[in-house]
Amino acid sequence: MPRSPTPRANFRPVPYSGPERRVADRRQAPIIEVRPTYAYVDAGAMVHNLRTVQAAVGPRCRVLAVVKADGYGHGAIEAARTFVDAGAWGCAVSLVEEGVELRQAEIRAPVLVLGGVHPGSEDVIVHRSLTPVVWAREHLQLLSAAVRRSGAPPLPIHLKIDTGMSRLGALPGQLPEFLDWLEGDDGQHVRLEGVMTHFACADEPDDVTSPRQLESFRDSLAVLASRGFHPPIRHVCNSAGLVRLPHAHFDMVRPGVAIYGAASSREVELPGLKMAMSVHSRILGIRELPAGARVSYGHRMELNRPSRLGIVPVGYADGYPRRMSGQAQVLVRGHRCRVVGNITMDVSMIDVTDLPDAREGERVTLLGPQGRDRIDAYELARWADVIPYEILCGISKRVPRRG
Ligand SMILES: *Cc1c(COP(=O)(O)O)cnc(C)c1O
Repeated sequence: MPRSPTPRANFRPVPYSGPERRVADRRQAPIIEVRPTYAYVDAGAMVHNLRTVQAAVGPRCRVLAVVKADGYGHGAIEAARTFVDAGAWGCAVSLVEEGVELRQAEIRAPVLVLGGVHPGSEDVIVHRSLTPVVWAREHLQLLSAAVRRSGAPPLPIHLKIDTGMSRLGALPGQLPEFLDWLEGDDGQHVRLEGVMTHFACADEPDDVTSPRQLESFRDSLAVLASRGFHPPIRHVCNSAGLVRLPHAHFDMVRPGVAIYGAASSREVELPGLKMAMSVHSRILGIRELPAGARVSYGHRMELNRPSRLGIVPVGYADGYPRRMSGQAQVLVRGHRCRVVGNITMDVSMIDVTDLPDAREGERVTLLGPQGRDRIDAYELARWADVIPYEILCGISKRVPRRG
């Protein structure tokens, strides 16, 4: 496996006084754990998933572990460590802030910043040896000035080409001026280590777009080559892409959702993944209510039989979407129980009438396996009418992560 944990020639941060102080306070995890609601993050499952991806792409293809949005809700630092130790070439984040968080945690593998170079972030990028994804001449100008100021060696960069996502990246027509600038720099300040693009529809059932994007990407590679640029790391595939377009793996793949054990939909899930996150709580108390009683805000729900309701201390402020009210289910003693009435900010009510033994303190699983059943991110996403990604990265900071 061409895994080069590339300890950069001069990794030691170059001196600078930047805006980093505030970043350390960014995570707002609870300072003590009293409420019995928590997310369990299974590092073993993440290792398994990374290896499953590596096996799917073969030993010659690098894996860039995407850990943006706090590792899709799993905890970015822990996720990055786990994936790098399991053989990932490096990590990808969206924001410079997220990259700094990894560096502060002493993660030394390459960290790609996917979201572009915002003016004012260039010194932090150089100082922290982050690898920016760039597509505009202004990015190059900002970065080269920062490299010059710091005296650091040439900064590796990855060029992003917009082949049809119409979001980030240089349009093919903008390549020549980008390459003109690079030619002028002659590797003094920046070094073109990678070139990439991003699929818009790799997870759609009748995807006809990805092959076209791929063709456009190959055209751009030819333009680069004609100008003497042969960036060693070409990468295109997200999780769905690496499953669906095996001929598009190139030198590296960029899985996010797959390494946490999920996908956009079951149809594009890499076989054999294990869901890394589960969310659990406990019944805080039981209410015995007569038929006809109405439950929770808005009184939308009327009990049609004498009922026993369990109070569960979890709500939409924890990332348990209110829109699932009336549809969501949880697991208690391995059985499915309906969430009744509106999910509130901090509390949800569940119907345990059919589990007469269920009592206070009973374990409740909101996401993940319990007994022989399980509730997965697809199911929650369907109830909430969102995609599984939103469920995972939506589990809020108020929910402590246990590993
Ligand atoms: C988020 C992201 C990925 C990972 O996408 P998944 O669908 O989660 O695998 C890959 N590449 C880019 C550019 C991204 O922004």
